[in-house]
Amino acid sequence: MTRVYNFSAGPANLPLSVLEEAQKDLVDYKGCGMSVMEMSHRSKDFQEIIDTAEADLRELLHMPENYRVIFMQGGATAQFAAIPMNLMKKGKADYIQSGNWSKKALGEAKMYGEVNVVASSEDCNYTKVPDVKAMKFSDDADYVYLCENETVYGARFFELPDTGDVPLVSDVSSMFLSEPHDVSKYGLLYGGVQKNIGPAGLAIVIVREDLVTEEVLPGTPSILNYKKNADAGSLMNTPNCWDIYMCGLTFKWLKELGGLEKIKEINERKAKLLYDYLDQSKLFTAAVEPGSRSLMNVPFVTGDADLDAKFVAESAAAGLKSLKGHRSVGGMRASIYNAMPEEGVVALVNFMEKFEKENA
Ligand SMILES: *Cc1c(COP(=O)(O)O)cnc(C)c1O
Repeated sequence: MTRVYNFSAGPANLPLSVLEEAQKDLVDYKGCGMSVMEMSHRSKDFQEIIDTAEADLRELLHMPENYRVIFMQGGATAQFAAIPMNLMKKGKADYIQSGNWSKKALGEAKMYGEVNVVASSEDCNYTKVPDVKAMKFSDDADYVYLCENETVYGARFFELPDTGDVPLVSDVSSMFLSEPHDVSKYGLLYGGVQKNIGPAGLAIVIVREDLVTEEVLPGTPSILNYKKNADAGSLMNTPNCWDIYMCGLTFKWLKELGGLEKIKEINERKAKLLYDYLDQSKLFTAAVEPGSRSLMNVPFVTGDADLDAKFVAESAAAGLKSLKGHRSVGGMRASIYNAMPEEGVVALVNFMEKFEKENA
């Protein structure tokens, strides 16, 4: 078996012990004679899998009782529509545009109601997030939306805006469970799981229960209706059972590691190693300004497209995979999610030092 260091932004690396546990269970889940992939979603075995996953998630997040957890299909992108359909009761929302994912989300929301872009960092090419203190929100908005960690540009919020009584909605896809999230600060937080938790295709939605109501926009399909999904315990139709099982294994892994406080410590250490190197390098530059730098997605450039391409090719040959930047940005991006071991970041920095010497 050869495992590489996989710096892909998503689908991304999973903890090796999680994959091995899944491998052990693959054809015969805990002696029941079948795979989780073959199991009825109405079976006792699966009910236990989903109940345990939810309980472990609640424990990891110290989640207040008045929040519902919904496992939904369609990834994070389905939520770009589901959020306005379920929450835009007065037909208006404020969006913060700090990168391409929030831009996509607000583009989708425009199909359902009035969207105010209250702040944007597009003019500086998303190299820092907008100042939350300077934001003015509408009094009559149904919610304020932000993407807390912009995966493509690698800029994140370290501080949340004060939205008063207006619920804050956050896309945490690429930082999900990479540090503690204070759930009580949000009306809703959600993420696709394929960055930090499990295989692609599933989103986890954590939503305050007073926001989960019968009143949704006309035309909202049942599959995107929070109330129907929540009331059915995420089993309104056949869910992605395998994915929920995989997420459950990752929750256990995080618990055994010492929880979100502990993983945050590790993630800060990993990110510091990389940013410290970038900040003193004469060849490479970090794309994002200090103060907005993601702990998960670290874009960097040499300033020379040919040299960038050479770096991507040579690093891949050395077992450091998927370091090419997003197609809309270019350069390089190292995604160093929870499952990236510290040795992987050390190997990357060592390789960059060597490359810098050879190409000085
Ligand atoms: C990857 C990503 C998405 C899209 O996720 P899908 O599951 O592919 O729909 C949305 N938001 C953020 C922040 C992401 O990183």
